[in-house]
Amino acid sequence: MEGLAVVGVVFVLIVVAYFGVSAVLRRIPAPSLRLPTGPIPDAWHGIVERNVPLARGLSSDERERLLRLVQVFLADKHFEGCGGLTLTEEIKVTIAAEACLLLLHLEGPCYPSFRTVLVYPHEFVPKVARSPGTGEIAPPPARLMGESWGDGVVVISWDDTVRGARNPADGENVVLHEFAHQLDAEDGVTDGAPLLAPSALRTWGGVLSAEYERLRRDAADDRRSALDEYGATNKAEFFAVATETFFEKPVQLEREHPELYGQLQQFYGQDPARRAPAPPSPPPPGAAP
Ligand SMILES: [Zn+2]
Repeated sequence: MEGLAVVGVVFVLIVVAYFGVSAVLRRIPAPSLRLPTGPIPDAWHGIVERNVPLARGLSSDERERLLRLVQVFLADKHFEGCGGLTLTEEIKVTIAAEACLLLLHLEGPCYPSFRTVLVYPHEFVPKVARSPGTGEIAPPPARLMGESWGDGVVVISWDDTVRGARNPADGENVVLHEFAHQLDAEDGVTDGAPLLAPSALRTWGGVLSAEYERLRRDAADDRRSALDEYGATNKAEFFAVATETFFEKPVQLEREHPELYGQLQQFYGQDPARRAPAPPSPPPPGAAP
């Protein structure tokens, strides 16, 4: 029994220490990022212009900063083509530019806990063959456009990346979604609350919780919302869906959910509702209508 009591005390201490460290981490200001000054490859401007219409509303300083962040991203992070996909500069720059759009006005390093992007040509089936609990073969999981793992890996479909990026006004953008999860995970807990200034924590928690409950009610009653009902899954998905909506349907989000818009505006340091609307990209030559 004594042994059990000791194990119990140690367990409690570990839990207390974990949440203590997590709480402290939220309060440590992240060091600023030093951006490279070397030349930006000419081809990158065309790739971003073609594939990332959300960047068209940025000021010239912001576009320059976005491409500098892409340089950091491509130097630091590992890309891997999966399912027979051969990686190209276009794939890497497009994914990096979309991911870095979230960081445009954030202080701190470039996704410090994120390491690898696995890129599939199309939707993919996650590799979970056996149920972790029972060891039994799990039923085939649904096909996914993207997935974000807690250990610094994002898995993404290139087809869906292009489709989501080139229509900048439908509220669907798989890269923004998965990298919002990475921001959320930076404090060690994926719970819908990214690293925030201490003064912002309470309001963030209050507004996000109320908006999450509102979306759950809207989804249950089949009521239309600016936010995709997938955000009603849990608070982590709510933050990821709210991020997609903030960048792709900012005017509607601000009109229908002004408090949520205000919190996201404060967190990202961006006001996309004030930018010129970005028209969808024309389809590439030869594409089916
Ligand atoms: Zn998600």
